[in-house]
Amino acid sequence: MLIDTHVHLDPYSQKEIEEILCRATNEDVKIVISAGTTLDSSKKNIEYSKIFPQFFTGVGIHPMDLIEPFSEKHDNELRDLIRNHEKVIVMSEIGLDYLPDMPDRAWQFNAFRKQISIARDFKLPIIFHSREAHRDCFRVLKEEKAYEVGGVMHYFQGSLYDAQAAIDSGFYISIARPLFRIDELQDVVKNISLDHIVIETDSAPQPFKKNRENWTEPRHLRSILLKISELKDLSTQEVEETIFENTKKLLSKRWKSIESTFV
Ligand SMILES: [Zn+2]
Repeated sequence: MLIDTHVHLDPYSQKEIEEILCRATNEDVKIVISAGTTLDSSKKNIEYSKIFPQFFTGVGIHPMDLIEPFSEKHDNELRDLIRNHEKVIVMSEIGLDYLPDMPDRAWQFNAFRKQISIARDFKLPIIFHSREAHRDCFRVLKEEKAYEVGGVMHYFQGSLYDAQAAIDSGFYISIARPLFRIDELQDVVKNISLDHIVIETDSAPQPFKKNRENWTEPRHLRSILLKISELKDLSTQEVEETIFENTKKLLSKRWKSIESTFV
């Protein structure tokens, strides 16, 4: 069975999620971890996790969604969400984004550091976002001792050097659909050990794609796995088993929460 370690399903209606999860199950994708991007989106994910057994969540405030400085209120609310809901199994999505017109960098740093600290207090793996900000991410992760909980550099698109830096920081790298179009990413996958890889679709509504059938969904996860096995010249079974074990290790004691409700 496959686990989609990073999606954003909370913008969908309950009915649409039901259909998405049904299509996913038909492709053997049996667990999804849906990341929060704001307090509201984190709460909505938690509500859905109560409805669908295969739906697990992360909580966190995405660097792109910082409309104000990260405050004590945010801190307390996130802690309450983690404390009170056992299907919250990762701190996600947090990180740094240096594209033009992104929120103030001082706000981003502060929110990233504070949320790493929450993750450490609750021993939650960290799923982080980095756009044009890899060096600073690795530095902050180190300074804030994120290696104590580890996690994932999500939607990885970087060099072999970046991949190695993520691994050295105690993190997995998560491969998504860019693998089909970015040559450098294919080289990274060929050159790093499978032991450091997890997979995701980062599925979210894509209204800019006119044909609904072309929207990325968790059901597409297996195609990423097949591409990895092709690139590494390994059997799909071996790749599937190793990635499953990696995901289990990544989630550490939070794996129990999946096991108890599903496996
Ligand atoms: Zn995401």
